[in-house]
Amino acid sequence: MSAAVIERIDCRVYDFPTPEPEADGTLEWTSTTAVVVTLESGGATGLGWTYSAGAAAEIVIGKLAEVVHHRPVDELPGGWRDMRRACRNLESRGLVMQAVSAVDMAWWDLRARLLGVSLPALFGRCRARARVYGSGGFTTMDDRQLEQQVAGWRAAGCSAMKIKIGQSWGSAIDRDMARVRALRSFAGDDVELMVDANGAYSPGQARRVGSFLDDMGVTWFEEPVSSEDVAGLRVVRAAVRCDVAAGEYISDPAGTALLVDAVDCLQLDATRCGGFTGFLQGAAVAAAHNREVSAHCAPSLHAAVTSSVINLRNIEWFADHARLEPELVDGAPEVHDGHIAVADDVLGHGMSLRPEADRYLA
Ligand SMILES: [Mg+2]
Repeated sequence: MSAAVIERIDCRVYDFPTPEPEADGTLEWTSTTAVVVTLESGGATGLGWTYSAGAAAEIVIGKLAEVVHHRPVDELPGGWRDMRRACRNLESRGLVMQAVSAVDMAWWDLRARLLGVSLPALFGRCRARARVYGSGGFTTMDDRQLEQQVAGWRAAGCSAMKIKIGQSWGSAIDRDMARVRALRSFAGDDVELMVDANGAYSPGQARRVGSFLDDMGVTWFEEPVSSEDVAGLRVVRAAVRCDVAAGEYISDPAGTALLVDAVDCLQLDATRCGGFTGFLQGAAVAAAHNREVSAHCAPSLHAAVTSSVINLRNIEWFADHARLEPELVDGAPEVHDGHIAVADDVLGHGMSLRPEADRYLA
């Protein structure tokens, strides 16, 4: 193992169209781009990816490959440090960290495969499986589409479900409230309701909407205001009963430290915050502040790293990613009884690129 070096690094960009145009409170999209990294050593292939833009692939090939190539597989922490150092002049957050994240996860996967163990065995386990919540409910959906989506989540055993609100930058609050009522009627009284405004509201709007959400028994109010408005998050959190959550744009532990006291639950995204290495760092910062973490998007990748995270609340089973990940890879962990887990008998995270996914190559 100690002699094994990374012999080859490759990066490919896949573009998965959505079934129809989708939107949340502050963004519209028609496809999801996966930037996929593979690392090879000793006949094994490690696989990681980030949901980003094609530009992340240029960072992987143009900046990170020279740091990674020929590096001993055992030197993962040193490689993580040096990838960030190599990108200093690009600002080592945002797009750069999305690229670093994909490489880091491929590197962890490769290391586990060469050791002949699963990633949960390498990280260690504090639970056999993690709770997921159904996530989607785009503002572009009508009631019939939402009802169908909720029925799918119920069939999968989800005990919590999240929809998007804050439509058109907070300019359609009556519809936001109508959709929350619809969610309650479709989901039933035994399901935990969650909403995500994606930063659409002003602090005042968020307090008023939050009062309605409290009356509806909603327990999770995500990005009621922009995550850049940390003071605004604190104001909203002090005014509502539901938990305030944010953190999906965190790139590094410093970003975690800025946000952690302004939320009830900190969201971390391994495809953005530095891969599995960054996720574990962020979870440790949150633990130091007595906060739980919730894994944002990319459920197939988070199933592997969260096995060892003591202060984990749940994993987001995001509709776009739940749909595309089984098309991108073989061996994606499945949701059963509202939970997800990596099987014990796989190497690494157990996933491999599907040749059939080539038709989505950008
Ligand atoms: Mg969100």
